[in-house]
Amino acid sequence: MNYLIYPLQIMNITQTYKNNFTHSRHTIGTPKDYPIDDNCGATGPNGYFYCPCDNMVVKRIFGVGTTSTNALWLESLTKVVTPTFNDYVTIMIAHIEDSELNKLRIGQTFSRKEKIALEGKDGLATGDHFHIVVGRGKMKGSGLKKNSNGIYVLDTTGGSIKPEEAFFIDNSFTKIKSSNGLNFVNLYSENNSDYYYTTSDLNVRLGPGTSYSSINALPKNTKVKVLEFSSNWARISNKEYISGNFLSKNKPKIYYDTKNVTADYLNVRKKPNGQIISTLAPLPKGTTVASILEQGTWTKIGNNRYVSTKFLN
Ligand SMILES: [Zn+2]
Repeated sequence: MNYLIYPLQIMNITQTYKNNFTHSRHTIGTPKDYPIDDNCGATGPNGYFYCPCDNMVVKRIFGVGTTSTNALWLESLTKVVTPTFNDYVTIMIAHIEDSELNKLRIGQTFSRKEKIALEGKDGLATGDHFHIVVGRGKMKGSGLKKNSNGIYVLDTTGGSIKPEEAFFIDNSFTKIKSSNGLNFVNLYSENNSDYYYTTSDLNVRLGPGTSYSSINALPKNTKVKVLEFSSNWARISNKEYISGNFLSKNKPKIYYDTKNVTADYLNVRKKPNGQIISTLAPLPKGTTVASILEQGTWTKIGNNRYVSTKFLN
């Protein structure tokens, strides 16, 4: 699972999008973005911006060699999981010095927790800090758009996101000195024993990889309890794994709860009391199935897949 974490080792947010200082013009106009300034815990250039997820690419560098405020755009090459959505993200960071930006090149990719650049005070900055803005989706146009106050705000395909709705806090990585009143979500409390919804039909496998055999399939919009993530795989029982790339915290309007098989091997049928099928069947004891619809004594668990309800609990 490619989750997004707060990108600094010490969080010391000196201004949020709520404060009535230079950022207020970002949130009063239309469109908006939601910037935070973070000085990494101390004055001076002491903190680095680390890559917040895997597969992030340098998309645009602006301002080097000019008097304009320097800015850097990073875009994820895969969807990432945040506390509120599962989608691509684009991040813009301002005030990094020329000397740091000159070390980067467009198209360069980074993995989670890799160092990207030192904080700076290029342009209109009161001291060394990162000005960070997050957007859902990919970079749109130049990545900037003038809002109704004449302020340039981040432009992405999915719109700007509040930082606490975008970043998890990895407690083993980030120490919080001040969040300036923003309530962030802890990565581990979110990840353990928590519920997600499948965003696509998913094979259920006996191990964390496509080389492991499939024993069942869960339809899109199944509510699953994830016990543990290991890289891009989510463990949903003692021995069942599904791809973590197709899970979301967003609750769909209609979703399916799951049940577990209680028989040693449970036959799967094409229709209620119909022909027994052999694809992804029979289901071994403990298998997690979606309970799509109960029809008499039969439960629909997928497209043309029915099992006897009395062997589920
Ligand atoms: Zn700022």
